[in-house]
Amino acid sequence: MDEQEAQARMIALLKEQGITNPRVLQAMAAVPRHLFVPEGYVEVAYGDFALPIGHRQTISQPYIVALMTEALEISPGDRVLEIGTGSGYQAAVLAELGADVYTVERISALYEEAKARLQALGYQVHCKQGDGYEGWPEFAPYHGIIVTAAAPEVPSPLLEQLADGGRLVIPLGAGYGYQNLWKIVKEGERLHKMNLGSVAFVPFVSRQLRHRQS
Ligand code: SAH
Repeated sequence: MDEQEAQARMIALLKEQGITNPRVLQAMAAVPRHLFVPEGYVEVAYGDFALPIGHRQTISQPYIVALMTEALEISPGDRVLEIGTGSGYQAAVLAELGADVYTVERISALYEEAKARLQALGYQVHCKQGDGYEGWPEFAPYHGIIVTAAAPEVPSPLLEQLADGGRLVIPLGAGYGYQNLWKIVKEGERLHKMNLGSVAFVPFVSRQLRHRQS
């Protein structure tokens, strides 16, 4: 099976799983996922599972990428902050949707690789190395914020950097095992929270949370 065929199957499966936003499906059909996984995994890049990307981290499962992207409700030109660049795949999907993407990764090797990969593929994504707990205040507020690692609570700087009407999507729970995916919409002083179901993410690692992590 060639990559195009594998990708078409991935898109068909996303539809079966309930992903309906045509722009999200188009974006995922446009990003070459096989170029975001390590060499040994190219053959299975479009399978509906997470894959290792080194440093004990993973590129998320296509369905979860689609679900989170859909929840962000992106319009072209929206400024979007991602915490946890990893391979850069999610950032590329957001860029395909016309978002102005800012992404932060704590592991320097992954940051370097993702930055080079995104640039080589022509994605204009702003990459930064550091602790995403602090967000990226210089470019706030963001219409969307997506956290792709599991945190015990929402880092408060991220809520501060969310625009009025903005959407924040984050897995909340223990750093290993299963968590719940939450969508939080800011409306004035109010936060509307929706539980999008069970997910399994790698842990959000931050000095700001160290005293709470085992
Ligand atoms: N979105 C990625 C998958 C990310 S895996 C993709 O599309 O490939 C989660 C990533 O979050 C890992 O790379 C991990 O190093 C990073 N991470 C964990 N805690 C972080 C923090 N506090 N700040 C920034 N990145 C963090």
